Amino acid sequence: MASDLSQFKIGFIGAGNMSYGILKGILKLGDIYAANVTVSAPSANNFPRFQEMGVHVVHSNNEAVLGSQLVFLAVKPHLIRAVVAEVSPHLTEQHTVVSVAAGVTLNTLEQLLPAGVAVVRVMPNLPCMLQEGALLFSRGTCAKQETGNLLKHLLSACGSVEEGPESWIDIHTGLSGSGVAFVYLFAEAMAEGAVKMGMPSVLAQRIAAQTILGAGYMLRDSGKPPAVLRGEVCTPGGTTIYGLHALEKGGVRSAAMSAVEAATDRARELG
Ligand code: NAP
Repeated sequence: MASDLSQFKIGFIGAGNMSYGILKGILKLGDIYAANVTVSAPSANNFPRFQEMGVHVVHSNNEAVLGSQLVFLAVKPHLIRAVVAEVSPHLTEQHTVVSVAAGVTLNTLEQLLPAGVAVVRVMPNLPCMLQEGALLFSRGTCAKQETGNLLKHLLSACGSVEEGPESWIDIHTGLSGSGVAFVYLFAEAMAEGAVKMGMPSVLAQRIAAQTILGAGYMLRDSGKPPAVLRGEVCTPGGTTIYGLHALEKGGVRSAAMSAVEAATDRARELG
């Protein structure tokens, strides 16, 4: 990142899990000072973990906005309208507003916000909390390419960050937001298979988790498509091809595709 961010100020409206995960990632990068970050929420319930990071915590949303160049909206979707109405008098063309609220479109945000305010919509997933998230963002009409570049840089410590058209956000929700739960189901089922064959449950779950983690790292870091990696594990006539045949007979490929499709459709319905 070429520009000096030592004076760059960020506000977070909402002190929940998403703010915490994103902020932890941003501070890990090291070019935003904790003293230049303000987090707001009505109650102090979640303040201690933010105070531990050295950021300001306040009850006034306007305080989080004033002086900040970048403002994250990280409250539940049904609160967005009220929160935006509250802070709008303090928002100018100098601000970029980044919403993580599920289902709140760029068009809605642009209509609620004062004209000229740059808006970006980000869809993170839960592993963002561990800086292993998968994030996709879309820029609104006033958000420039350089804003996208800055955001990509800032969010890069939260996991992988991609930019795309807004129509991909619901697909990303199906693939990656809900996908986390699909993987949990697969882990559970694999562990139960091991229990059926005689392994203790706790051990089977631990090994299933590590298997998914290891496979995930290989998938991400090798640059090879999943089908190629899968082929590499299959010795002719060996155990894996027998297991894969059982999965195909059970329709797992079709079920996984349908799961992403159903979750995407549901995200579209809710949006
Ligand atoms: P959360 O943990 O429930 O946190 C919500 C925060 O908003 C709390 O700190 C709450 O403060 C605060 N808040 C409530 N009313 C407020 C107000 N009027 N002004 C300012 N802050 C207010 O929620 P979350 O999981 O972080 O989710 C935040 C957003 O991220 C949601 O819009 C959600 O759709 C989106 N998102 C979440 C996930 C996920 O996996 N969690 C994934 C993608 C997108 P109090 O505790 O004081 O009420």
